[in-house]
Amino acid sequence: MRHSENHRSHRIGWLRAAVLGANDGIVSTASLIIGVAAAHATQESILLTGVAGLVAGAMSMAAGEYVSVSSQSDTENADLAREREELATQPEHELDELKGIYIGRGLTPDLAHQVALQLTAHDALGAHARDELGIIEASSANPIQAALYSAGTFAVGAALPLLVAFLVPSANIVLYVALMSLAFLALLGGLAAKAGGANVWIGTGRVAFWGVLAMAATAGVGSLFGVVAA
Ligand SMILES: [Zn+2]
Repeated sequence: MRHSENHRSHRIGWLRAAVLGANDGIVSTASLIIGVAAAHATQESILLTGVAGLVAGAMSMAAGEYVSVSSQSDTENADLAREREELATQPEHELDELKGIYIGRGLTPDLAHQVALQLTAHDALGAHARDELGIIEASSANPIQAALYSAGTFAVGAALPLLVAFLVPSANIVLYVALMSLAFLALLGGLAAKAGGANVWIGTGRVAFWGVLAMAATAGVGSLFGVVAA
């Protein structure tokens, strides 16, 4: 029978990574550019800072994602290996454990026993992985794919304020990069909220608030250095 409801939870994984990456790219690169521009740097050094920020940020996102996803799959594989071992050495105990999980979910002891027996006969490790360890097929992400994905979304996000800085005269960089980055962040936040079925205004306000805070902080530091250096 076809499942008709339109659940959005299966979109969450890649959506969250995309939004986090692009958000990070916009906020960190725009803040870098604004900070250096506020210190009255030349257009060349502002653009150089932006490009260096894009590359450094993309690489650190890739490294961070690769390490975190790899260690997650290491943990999952270690748990699965232990489970396989326990299923081989103490099958009765494992069956009881599964039965207990189903009783905890509201099944009668007899029905829980039947379900545990049949699922164990069908795919014992799969049943324990899913119902005992919470490891479902979908969550075992590929570290390289996740790293490339994260670096790519960061780079796309970072390229937006960089493009603005490239197109406008250096005297107006702070204002234009701040306004355009805010617009990009608000758009991103709203899109992510909409795709995830959440409130668009809250989603927009949330990213815009942190974006403003980050850009204001670097503008403050930059203008301070500008005064000191002058
Ligand atoms: Zn088990």
